[in-house]
Amino acid sequence: MAYRVTLIPGDGIGPEVIAAARHVLDATGLGFAWDVQAAGAEALEKFGAPMPGALLDSIRANGVGLKGPITTALGTAGFRSVNVGIRQELSLWANLRPVKNVAGVDSRYEHVDLVVVRENTEGMYTGIEHTVIPDQAAEAIRIITRKASERIVRFAFEYARSHGRRKVTAVHKANVLKVTDGLFLGIAQEIAAQYPDIAFEHRIVDNMSMQLVRDPTQFDVIVTTNLFGDILSDLCSGLVGGLGLAPGANLGDKLAVFEPVHGSAPKYAGQNKANPTATIMSGVLLLRHLGENAAADRVEDAVLKVIAEGRFVTFDLKPDRNDPTAVGTRQMAEAIVKAMNP
Ligand code: NAD
Repeated sequence: MAYRVTLIPGDGIGPEVIAAARHVLDATGLGFAWDVQAAGAEALEKFGAPMPGALLDSIRANGVGLKGPITTALGTAGFRSVNVGIRQELSLWANLRPVKNVAGVDSRYEHVDLVVVRENTEGMYTGIEHTVIPDQAAEAIRIITRKASERIVRFAFEYARSHGRRKVTAVHKANVLKVTDGLFLGIAQEIAAQYPDIAFEHRIVDNMSMQLVRDPTQFDVIVTTNLFGDILSDLCSGLVGGLGLAPGANLGDKLAVFEPVHGSAPKYAGQNKANPTATIMSGVLLLRHLGENAAADRVEDAVLKVIAEGRFVTFDLKPDRNDPTAVGTRQMAEAIVKAMNP
């Protein structure tokens, strides 16, 4: 029986990296029935809404989705972020972003192996903001609740336990955001006390940024609120070679949508240039979510092999980004499929 998965190509480089991931996942032989759904600008044009009901219904029905990035205009122009909208509408409350060195990729650090767990539904991303005085003053409301904080911190500890990880670091700004992050930190400390087998520490987000750049190997599982998690996970991807490598999972009680950490990189759209690794590795997280660990291992091993060999990789994985021997998105996916079937 085929797995039904909602497939969201998205904008910019999205359709290309999603096509690459689809090709690789199809090559596992598991059988996928892809339910392709438009979102963002394409959906707005076709259905008059950037996040159509059909898209949400499809994810609700299938339980899982694989998503490309979606462009969101800056400022008040255009529609609200569909990426944030999907997470909130479907209550995909945990955002999981593993970051690990990959052999063959030039990076400033070695032995980095950490996971960012980001609260995905509230914080600074509630979208509750308004103009107070036109062109002079505006305000946004940052919401932190016990319910969302407890479940994300508990998720981080449970993840640590089930994945053999030893330490959870809670990141906050409770010295300034005394009420909201004070609540988050207090809850993190309460939950930590229930996991005596896992070490716990907390860091103020500015210090955390410096510590990550100074020595990322001191961290294991990082748990934090929405905005800090968004920023720190991009930073973390830069520690091991960039956004082209960073996969992500949005997880709820029943539903899960997998997507790369990166955005739609419009400057590379339609050029067969973007690195498909982050999306393919998001597909690996999807396979593990489905319990298909053997297939996940097969894809992951093939990705690592192709990157370690360094021949059939995109420009961003070459020591010199202008290296003319870099291959395109499609060719890298093809090399991964070949490596899966030696
Ligand atoms: P971006 O992640 O698209 O690009 C940042 C940098 O990383 C650029 O230099 C880009 O070229 C590079 N990059 C990203 N993905 C790459 C890949 N696969 N291969 C090679 N290089 C890659 O971030 P941005 O430029 O800040 O945002 C562009 C658009 O994406 C915005 O509209 C933003 O709102 C949107 N965005 C969407 C998501 C999402 O869908 N979840 C996430 C972040 C940004």
